[in-house]
Amino acid sequence: MPILTESGTLANLIGGKWVHSSSLTKDPVYNPATEEILAHVPHSSIDDVDKAVQAAKTAFESWSKVPVPRRARILFKYQQLLVEHWEELARMVTEENGKSYTEAYGEVLRGIECVEFASGAPSLMMGKQLPDIATNMESGMYRYPVGVVGGITPFNFPVMVPCWMFPLAIACGNTFVLKPSERTPILANRLAELFMEAGLPDGVLNIVHGTHDVVNGLLTHPDVKSISFVGSQPVAEYVYKTGAAFGKRVQALAGAKNHSIVMPDADLDAAVNQIVTAAFGSAGERCMAISVVVAVGEIGDQLVEKLVEASDQIQIGNGLDEGAFLGPVIRQSNKARTVSYIESGEHEGADLKRDGRQDAESRREGYFIGPTIFDNVTSEMKIWKDEIFAPLLSVARVNTLEEAIALANRSDYANGACIFTTNGSYVRQFRETIDAGMLGVNVGVPAPMAFFPFSGWKKSFYGDLHVNGPDGVEFYTRKKMVTARW
Ligand code: NAD
Repeated sequence: MPILTESGTLANLIGGKWVHSSSLTKDPVYNPATEEILAHVPHSSIDDVDKAVQAAKTAFESWSKVPVPRRARILFKYQQLLVEHWEELARMVTEENGKSYTEAYGEVLRGIECVEFASGAPSLMMGKQLPDIATNMESGMYRYPVGVVGGITPFNFPVMVPCWMFPLAIACGNTFVLKPSERTPILANRLAELFMEAGLPDGVLNIVHGTHDVVNGLLTHPDVKSISFVGSQPVAEYVYKTGAAFGKRVQALAGAKNHSIVMPDADLDAAVNQIVTAAFGSAGERCMAISVVVAVGEIGDQLVEKLVEASDQIQIGNGLDEGAFLGPVIRQSNKARTVSYIESGEHEGADLKRDGRQDAESRREGYFIGPTIFDNVTSEMKIWKDEIFAPLLSVARVNTLEEAIALANRSDYANGACIFTTNGSYVRQFRETIDAGMLGVNVGVPAPMAFFPFSGWKKSFYGDLHVNGPDGVEFYTRKKMVTARW
């Protein structure tokens, strides 16, 4: 059976076979630019989860014993296949997520980089030894996989976020059960199909489509040893607490409200270019999107004027159309939620400088909403507090860098933050006092590459070891210490 059943419903992948979900309940998967139904996604049951976990557990017996260089060779082959299928994958991202083709192409690159990092498993998994901890005594640390790993992913990066998880987990000798977002589930199947083409044995990567039943099935299953989660804050907190209660290690990456501070000495045109891209790219549906700009001192008026001017130039449209930059948000309900936040900003007294509801594209088919900018936003307003995850940018005004940092630090979230300045001492003050895990200096989207950890703080992250880089290797391995006397 192919990745889509004859009825257009996505198949689950269990033990190397594409199989029907045991559930008859399913949801349509829309192209958010056209409202066309691309496929249906089943709401798989706990029973489906159990079958996948059993397949992963069986596969773990042999996969964990495959020598690491042989595992890595399959990842090298996978990398080649992803490069060969780059354009096809990027197109699929645009179709199911809505982001522009250029951004989708960049997302696939980010996924490929994760596979490249994971291909270094022979070096990454090395232990450490000390030959003489005492007379005639030695001690050594050896790394081993943890077992069956569960991964639960969000809609906004259907290639990159799953690739934060399964390539490294699998390279480290674990087996994996992936629960993709039910809103962008199609790519997961294609990614798995290519991995199997690269020579991945049956049962090493399994996919169970669905919603909270599948998540709960993974969280409570005694044979699932660890959980990687990326998604919204309330669900991340729930996943972290429930997974821990069931004895699993958990890393749960959550929501964001990223502040970008613009100092009076900044190169304003360069800053505006970065901010507009970071606020409205991917329709603001990025955990590293800039959602609040903090204008420091007298540059406020000029900055807002330039932001509005630059936003007026943005081409809204289907991400597959030449030149389109701002695609739709993911669903009609997300568009309605965005409109309600615009109304809330107006009621709370913020100055609406650009109203995305008025763009012609916001009235056509598809879930489009134009770039929206509010000025004079304060920390009492809902549009400042909540993660809106849409092309809505708030501008707050303060007099000093201290006030700007204090405002950003009042947010519950602490994923990323940026500063635009040409002054090194401002940068140092920002770096030392801002509460956020990923900082940008004259960079709007400071997302770390695969060989560094992706590192939110506060309510943007639950757990201790982040995804990617050395943290990812720690998370997907456990250690044995051997102390020996001969
Ligand atoms: P979401 O929380 O709605 O869904 C994420 C996953 O959780 C999905 O697989 C979904 O099926 C599952 N889920 C949703 N509700 C659930 C429930 N009640 N019980 C159990 N499982 C549930 O998130 P989303 O809308 O798909 O993604 C957007 C969110 O993800 C934003 O908040 C964004 O900031 C966050 N995100 C964070 C990062 C990061 O690195 N911190 C990266 C990407 C996205």
